[in-house]
Amino acid sequence: MAETEHIPLKLHNSLTRTQEVFEPVYLGEARVYTCGPTVYNYQHIGNMRAYVFADTLGRTLSFKGYKLNHVINITDVGHLTDDADAGEDKMEKMAAKSGASAWDIARRYQEDFEADLARLNIRKPAHPKATEYVESMIAWAEKIAGKHCYELESGLYFDVSTVADYGRLARAVTDEGEGRIDTVEGKRNVADFAIWRKTPAGETRQMEWDSPWGRGAPGWHLECSVMSEALLGFPFDIHTGGIDHREIHHPNEIAQNQAHACSDHSGAKIWMHNNFLIDRAGKMSKSSGDFLRLQLLVDRGFHPLAYRLMCLQAHYRSELEFSWDNLAAALTRLKRMAMQVENLKTRHAELGSASISNLEPWVQEEEWTLKQVQGDVDMKIAGIIETFDEAISTDLNSSVCLTLLEEALRLKKVAPSQKLLVAAAMDAVLGLDLLNLTRTDLRIRPKNAQISEDEIEAQFAARKQARTDKDFAKSDEIRDALAAQGVEVMDGDPLGWDWKLSI
Ligand code: AMP
Ligand code: ZN
Repeated sequence: MAETEHIPLKLHNSLTRTQEVFEPVYLGEARVYTCGPTVYNYQHIGNMRAYVFADTLGRTLSFKGYKLNHVINITDVGHLTDDADAGEDKMEKMAAKSGASAWDIARRYQEDFEADLARLNIRKPAHPKATEYVESMIAWAEKIAGKHCYELESGLYFDVSTVADYGRLARAVTDEGEGRIDTVEGKRNVADFAIWRKTPAGETRQMEWDSPWGRGAPGWHLECSVMSEALLGFPFDIHTGGIDHREIHHPNEIAQNQAHACSDHSGAKIWMHNNFLIDRAGKMSKSSGDFLRLQLLVDRGFHPLAYRLMCLQAHYRSELEFSWDNLAAALTRLKRMAMQVENLKTRHAELGSASISNLEPWVQEEEWTLKQVQGDVDMKIAGIIETFDEAISTDLNSSVCLTLLEEALRLKKVAPSQKLLVAAAMDAVLGLDLLNLTRTDLRIRPKNAQISEDEIEAQFAARKQARTDKDFAKSDEIRDALAAQGVEVMDGDPLGWDWKLSI
């Protein structure tokens, strides 16, 4: 195929509120830092939207040929229940409530987080823990303390008036307007924040360290400045997080970065923020008992990748409303795609090719890059790859990309092997695991289903026999009995499913 014109990657930079062309700090590389979870509890599916977004960004950078270095930190100390520096440490609070040690809680929920990343087919980034960087945080604070900080009884505070243009990322910071609560007595400015929190006299914390300002723990904002610089350098390419971080956490990181580097540079060239997943039923709150986490979706019979698809259907900068109906629609869409890919594989095998193996053109260890697929695809479908590239390169327009993938799967008079190649290349960006996913994988038994699959299949066979025998009364009777057990019989379903559990 002829060399196509290079389409630049444009990303929305929250700092400038415009789309900017991505130009890496280090030639051929992309260094991305994503604010990670506070591991005091399970992540809710809103949190996971932030990581699906960051992964889609990472996959896009790889697709465009950059060598990706992606870090998602693990906050296992220092995040307070309240952004105003007055609440309790989330980890310590959970430890006191549950009776387990803060360290055990961190380990447990980090493992759970990593399992959720895997279930959402999020590629494995580096996961440094905040507690592993406390020494570096103290060194960082020592460097900036003299010029930018002041000490109060409760800790060391950063004076935001000592750096140029504090809050330029949030664009809304005024003493009155921001909804901050000035609960710490003695703060010079409402927006000042803790760099180090001293353990109150007479108390001990499970997680505490010695410092020049007394025994205590680092302030939450410090870890991301320190870890991003240590792992990705200063400045690096892209910093991501949820939209809430645009208002306080990231402006504070930027202030620390400016102070530490004695420069006006924010630390990252591009700051990107995903909008929120919202749930009107209030089930996103971690204090609401049975809150919306990935396992709950699985318990209700939804494959985790249906949730990934649901996220990709919306632009990452738009609010997305969660509903079970939307999730069900996403699952149906995913089933249809998986079925088309399965059929393509069968047709490819029928055409006399050897059985699917690692020698097949679309199967490879490394994921596809744009350049590779442009080299391997024939003229007839090159155009659709180019349109796909254009969509993902325009601030990650994943919803258009999904439509293009479906269009590619529907193309007429194109060899199955070529279509599979296109699907593999597009899925390298979308991450739906389409080349491996089967319809059977997507049929998940809801946790409270009473009937086993074997029983359903046996009833189903009996019903088929009854229909063959033209005993329609019996066939209806079996259908009604199955329905009473939550099994919906789907005669002539276009997806080729005979039944589904509708509990
Ligand atoms: P946290 O563990 O609270 O620090 O949150 C982890 C990540 O999830 C951060 O990037 C948050 O900005 C993001 N986040 C929190 N709630 C939501 C939500 N409802 N929708 C999307 N992202 C969220
Ligand atoms: Zn952070």
